[in-house]
Amino acid sequence: MTTSLKGKPAADCVRDGVKSRVDERRQKAGSVPGLAVVLVGRDPASEIYVAKKHKAAVAVGMHSFECRLDANSGTGAVLDVVSQLNRNPDVHGILVQLPLPDGVDSDAVIQHIDAAKDVDGLGRLSQGALVQNRPGLRPCTAVGIIDLLDYYEVPLEGRQAVVVGRSSLVGLPTALLLMHRNATVSVIHSKTPSPARIARTADILVVAAGRPGLVTREWIKPNAVVVDVGIHRTDSGIVGDVLADEAWGHAGAFTPVPGGVGPMTIAELLHNTWMAFQTQVVAG
Ligand code: NAD
Repeated sequence: MTTSLKGKPAADCVRDGVKSRVDERRQKAGSVPGLAVVLVGRDPASEIYVAKKHKAAVAVGMHSFECRLDANSGTGAVLDVVSQLNRNPDVHGILVQLPLPDGVDSDAVIQHIDAAKDVDGLGRLSQGALVQNRPGLRPCTAVGIIDLLDYYEVPLEGRQAVVVGRSSLVGLPTALLLMHRNATVSVIHSKTPSPARIARTADILVVAAGRPGLVTREWIKPNAVVVDVGIHRTDSGIVGDVLADEAWGHAGAFTPVPGGVGPMTIAELLHNTWMAFQTQVVAG
């Protein structure tokens, strides 16, 4: 029997916590957090994500700002928008929807976001704080994975964890967060020889490779907890990086795709926006 680690109840828990704090703040002081999302171009998947983020922010009582730019806007135009948002006191969190079109320097844009408003946790100060396990804004998907595991009471300390992928958005921060929780962590990436052999040592296997169906039964230790971060739209529906049919009945617990990690990412964005607001306004 494989337990399904559904994201919705865990995400609702995070979201409800944020909503009650926002409600309380509005009643006491009349101010609420503001989240700005910058979308450059008209990538259909990005449009869907931005719409979901807007809806989620409004649902917990935050102000939501959308800044749209043309696909052929240059780096300078995007930097100008970020500068305006950095200065805007009603905006406490800024998220630039990735990927940016070719011709826009993504790193320059990300690093231009005021560190206090970096709700995607991708700036150098946020990532440095993560490495050193100091307080700071963490990448939403990575912290969502940890909260999901905590929600289902999966013990982390002393366990063997393997993370497939080392992106600064998902794989690397997840590996660091697991390490900070005293798991023993290995990271597999595109140049790792014999990845299945290493993956099979994992009590907790997190897969964020962006390769549909990469992970087969051979990669999974019987009864391991498997977190599938991948999202791929295919002719047969949305699939992950793990071959789901091979994980069910073999893993001890498995996150469904869709409906596993995905809901956590948006809930954590709201949580980060609350944290950013608290640092800038409540504690400031
Ligand atoms: P990325 O392309 O930036 O990074 C992929 C990583 O996987 C790289 O570090 C690469 O070395 C590694 N990799 C690639 N091929 C591999 C292979 N054959 N074997 C081992 N490692 C390999 O991708 P990302 O931004 O980290 O996203 C990964 C996946 O997670 C994508 O499918 C993305 O759509 C999905 N994602 C989901 C959510 C969510 O909320 N569920 C959020 C972010 C990303």
